[in-house]
Amino acid sequence: MFRILLTVIALVVATSLLYRFIVQKFAANKQKPFKEPSKMVGCAYCQLYVEQDEAIYSNGQYFCSSAHSKLKIK
Ligand SMILES: [Zn+2]
Repeated sequence: MFRILLTVIALVVATSLLYRFIVQKFAANKQKPFKEPSKMVGCAYCQLYVEQDEAIYSNGQYFCSSAHSKLKIK
């Protein structure tokens, strides 16, 4: 009888430890995908704001698209 009780206690402890481990791992994974928002830059032609990663950089200026980067600014 006492042995069964010990087994049950051990099982409960093991389960709670495993649960904690999973929750911590899940929380750590949840924080990772957060990417810092990239800087917004305005298109030199139409002033549309786009992310710096997606903007086209040409002649020292940012553009929203390759079409605008090819258009000459007066
Ligand atoms: Zn543009």
